Amino acid sequence: MSTDRSKELFKRAKRVIAGGVNSPVRAFGSVGGVPRFIERGKGCRIWDADGNEYIDFVGSWGPLIAGHANPSVLKALRAAMALGTGFGAPTEREIELAEVITSALPSVQKIRMVSSGSEATMSALRLARAATGRERVLKFEGCYHGHVDALLLGAGSGVATLGIPGSPGVPACYANLTIQAPYNDVGAVRQAFERWGDEIACAIVEPLAGNMGCVPPLPGFLEELRECCDRSGALLIFDEVITGFRLAWGGAQTLYGVKPDLTCLGKIVGGGLPAAAYGGRRDLMTQVAPDGPVYQAGTLSGNPLAMAAGLATLGELAKAGSYERLGATSQRMADGLGEIAREVGVEFTAVAVGGAFGFFFHPGPVRNFADAQKAHAGRFKRFFQSMLEQGIYLAPSRFECGFASLAHQSRDIEATLAAARIAMQKTARVR
Ligand SMILES: *Cc1c(COP(=O)(O)O)cnc(C)c1O
Repeated sequence: MSTDRSKELFKRAKRVIAGGVNSPVRAFGSVGGVPRFIERGKGCRIWDADGNEYIDFVGSWGPLIAGHANPSVLKALRAAMALGTGFGAPTEREIELAEVITSALPSVQKIRMVSSGSEATMSALRLARAATGRERVLKFEGCYHGHVDALLLGAGSGVATLGIPGSPGVPACYANLTIQAPYNDVGAVRQAFERWGDEIACAIVEPLAGNMGCVPPLPGFLEELRECCDRSGALLIFDEVITGFRLAWGGAQTLYGVKPDLTCLGKIVGGGLPAAAYGGRRDLMTQVAPDGPVYQAGTLSGNPLAMAAGLATLGELAKAGSYERLGATSQRMADGLGEIAREVGVEFTAVAVGGAFGFFFHPGPVRNFADAQKAHAGRFKRFFQSMLEQGIYLAPSRFECGFASLAHQSRDIEATLAAARIAMQKTARVR
C-alpha cells in the first residue's frame, strides 16, 4: 500500500497547521505511521489521497451513521444550499430538528442548538451551575466531554480525589471545582456526595463510556447516580454526544431507563456537519437567554445546512429496522473478533451495544478507565497497523469506540473479520 501522497500532504500540513491536524488523535501519534489524508467516501468506504480503499469504522467519529455521501443527506443538503447557506436568523428547519429530538428523548422538553459537542457540555455546565447556585462538578475518569476547561482533567486515580489540571492553560481554580470518580464505582459516587453533596452543581457522565474504549454502565450505576443527585439537589447531565441516536432512537437514557435533567447531543444530530445541542427540563431551559439570565449564543448555531444534514440523517435512522441492523452489525463485529482472538490465543474482550462496539487486548472485565489502561498498548498498535494495511480503517487509538453504520453490509463485516484473523495472528507475536 503506497502512502507517498499522504506523507507529502502531512509534511505540507505540518508547516501551516498545528501538528498538521485539526484535532490531535488524527495525527496517529499512538499508533504510528502516516495519517491517511482522505479524498472521498461512499457508503461504508473511504479512499485516501493515494487511492487506497478502506472499510471505515470511524464514520467521522460517529456522525456518519447513515454512511458517507448518503443520497438522502446529499439531496437535503443540495435543497438547503440552493436557498442560501446561513442567515443568523431563525429558520423552520431548526424547529423541525428540535421537534424530532424532543420527541425522541424522553427527558428533553426544550433544546438549544450549538455547533460542537464541546460547546454543548460547556453550556450545560453553565446552566447547571446557574440553576443550582453551586460550583462543583462531578465527572468520571476516562469520560471525555470536549475540551472544556472544567472537564479536561487527566485520569487521576483514587476515589473522588480533587482533580488536577489535565492540560496547561486550565486555571487551577477551575480544575479544583471538578471532582473525579472512577466510572461504574457506586461507592465512589456515594463518597463524593457525602463529602461535597451540597456544593455539587451537577454530575456529568457518558451514560455508556465511549472515550475509553467502549465501556457500558454496570446495572445500578446510573440509577445510583440519579439518586445521589436527587438527594443532594444536584443536576444529572447525560453527555449523549456519542450515544444519542446511536445506542437506540431514544439514546442511552431510553435504553437504560434513567432520566437526566440535561442532555448533551452532537455528532449524529449534525449528520456530518457542525451541529450539536443541549436540552432538558423546560424549567431549566427557560433560564437560558433570552427567556432567562444564563447567557449562551452562537453566530452559526442552527445553521441551515447542518440542520438539513441532521434531519436527513435522523430520517434514515427513523426507518423501520435501522437499529436492528446497526445492532446486528456491531454484535457480529464484537462476536467475530472475540472468536478469532480465542482461536489465536490472544487475551481479548469485546462488547457491542446498539451501533457501537469496542474491544480491548485484555481478558476483561473492563469496567473503568484503570481497567482500560491495563489493555495491551503494543498489541493494539500492531492490530491497528495490520488492519489499516489490509484496508480496514479503525479509530487510531485504543480509547475509542468502533462505529457501525447503516451502510455496512454483512459482506463488509465478513471481509473485516477475514482481515482481523490475519491481524490477530501478527498481534499474537507481540509480547
Ligand atoms: C466527541 C465528544 C464530545 C465533544 O464533541 P466535539 O464536537 O468534538 O466538540 C463531547 N462528549 C462526548 C461524549 C464526545 O464523544
